[in-house]
Amino acid sequence: MENWYDGLPKSNDLGARFNSRLEFNVRYLLSILQEKNISATFFWLGSLAEKNKGLIREVQNMGHDIGCHGWTHTHIQVLGNRGFLDETQRALGTIADIIGKPVIHYRAPYFSISEQTPWALPALVRNGIKFDSSIVPVKYWRYGFPGFDPTVSVHQTDHGEITEIPVSTGNFLGIRIPFGGGAWFRMIPFSFVKRGYQHLEELGITGVFYMHPWELDPGHPNVFLNPKYGITHYCKLGRCEKKLRILLDQFRFTSIDQFFPASSGLRI
Ligand SMILES: [Zn+2]
Repeated sequence: MENWYDGLPKSNDLGARFNSRLEFNVRYLLSILQEKNISATFFWLGSLAEKNKGLIREVQNMGHDIGCHGWTHTHIQVLGNRGFLDETQRALGTIADIIGKPVIHYRAPYFSISEQTPWALPALVRNGIKFDSSIVPVKYWRYGFPGFDPTVSVHQTDHGEITEIPVSTGNFLGIRIPFGGGAWFRMIPFSFVKRGYQHLEELGITGVFYMHPWELDPGHPNVFLNPKYGITHYCKLGRCEKKLRILLDQFRFTSIDQFFPASSGLRI
């Protein structure tokens, strides 16, 4: 849960120039989930949670999980071990106060847990996180932890266990790519995405899908960006909602807590 500019370079400048569309975007996403009777896990930036307390409680009351997406939208390798701890604890405390219970779900900005940040998962466990969805087991310019287990699975750390929920990946033209959301979901042929989930289903492997609320808002401002960012941000936004609706009709999706009902608050 972030504004369309939070993951872009110079996001502070963009935030100063443009009004937030977060509430409008989140409400639109909620309406689709309600229509399809599906619950989801909403990972909030702590800095935005502070300004959207009522909206977060509304999302929670509709049966969705409330998780954490850091405080500022900063790559955790840039934050470093100490900075990561400071930001995470601040965000977890803020969000927990809003929802009235500890936060147990986490997703790092830019999926930035990798082999360069071995301190991250143990730190999350120590701070009460039971489910992390920050690792993408591919090699990509923005993120990636190639070789990490691509299935939903429990991992041991020095401070206890954590369930990792990686975005679904598959081989496309010989390259392993995360088809389960974001720019890849928008850019590659939709038939490949559907085949990917069908294949996982046949193997009995849980599929994972994610989406930013701004991806359902193709009318958000079009700013000039370095092509590397510009292509991944704006590519095929107009078709995103249609593809999302087809996926939600063809496959059964739910939130993390609904999928692991025994853990929703009981093991804290
Ligand atoms: Zn993000």
